[in-house]
Amino acid sequence: MRIAEMKTGTTIIDGKAFAAEMRGRVAEQVSRLKTEHGITPGLAVVLVGEDPASQVYVRSKGKQTAEAGMASFEHKLDADTTEAALLDLLGRLNADPSVHGILVQLPLPRHLDSARIINAIDPAKDVDGFHISNAGLLATGQKAMVPCTPLGCLMLLKAHLGNLSGLQAVVIGRSNIVGKPMAQLLLGDSCTVTIAHSRTRDLEDIVRRADIVVAAVGRPGMVQGSWIRPGATVIDVGINRVEGQDGKSRLVGDVDFPGAAETAGAITPVPGGVGPMTIACLLANTLTATCRANGLDEPEGLTA
Ligand code: NAD
Repeated sequence: MRIAEMKTGTTIIDGKAFAAEMRGRVAEQVSRLKTEHGITPGLAVVLVGEDPASQVYVRSKGKQTAEAGMASFEHKLDADTTEAALLDLLGRLNADPSVHGILVQLPLPRHLDSARIINAIDPAKDVDGFHISNAGLLATGQKAMVPCTPLGCLMLLKAHLGNLSGLQAVVIGRSNIVGKPMAQLLLGDSCTVTIAHSRTRDLEDIVRRADIVVAAVGRPGMVQGSWIRPGATVIDVGINRVEGQDGKSRLVGDVDFPGAAETAGAITPVPGGVGPMTIACLLANTLTATCRANGLDEPEGLTA
């Protein structure tokens, strides 16, 4: 595990380095699949509209997919694309044997029903893990496609802490894409899990009791350093753009990093913590989907 020590003895969990290492392992497996089985994993990314942040994510996903030796298929559709046209495209991608993973970039334009669209993806190709079947499989402790960001968080936690069994964990945020699956994963690893959200009372007290804090809210610095239990492991999922005193914009997480780093045992920075793990896990999921589709053993250490 790539880690760095602060003067205080707090470990800074280097997600950027961990993700690079993971992408390297995925690329090795992809090369093995090609030479031994003549199979090239393929990931199709569908972008509807011109949301600038989504365009950046999609570009980055395409680049890293190609760098891992996989086939990258990008489908860019106009913002006014109809639901029928999008469902038709998904039907074709579901049926295409060269496509092992399908990702529809969210958020979708308002006139499209996200749940209906996501649930039209073949669950075996649902590398984002958002299909209701995969959510159900994860919730019932069965083999699922696991959402990439929580999977990345779990990998960082396990790499740092090893066995998570019996630890008190708080997940702040209850979204379907981060908070809920994160809580399911921690429960699957036998943590005692509290899910906090916008209506939670006494968040500070809950955080103080936690060995593991996962913050996925979208509010800059809302988790105060003084709330962190000494030695706790803090995973900051939040990505918030704020304006600094110099007038320049920068990214910060949901946790007051300088304050929390004084008491935490380990903490992920923003940027360079959870963020890079998301795409690394997307590539890992695409590789896993390819192996499953071809009845091959799944590579170890790349799934939950
Ligand atoms: P979301 O808006 O869907 O959910 C936010 C959650 O925070 C909600 O469940 C809400 O109940 C909770 N919340 C709001 N105010 C709160 C409060 N005062 N106290 C406690 N809980 C509160 O957001 P999301 O999609 O889950 O994303 C959360 C954050 O993670 C965002 O900053 C997002 O940009 C970031 N994110 C990062 C990655 C990554 O790759 N690192 C991936 C996905 C999301």
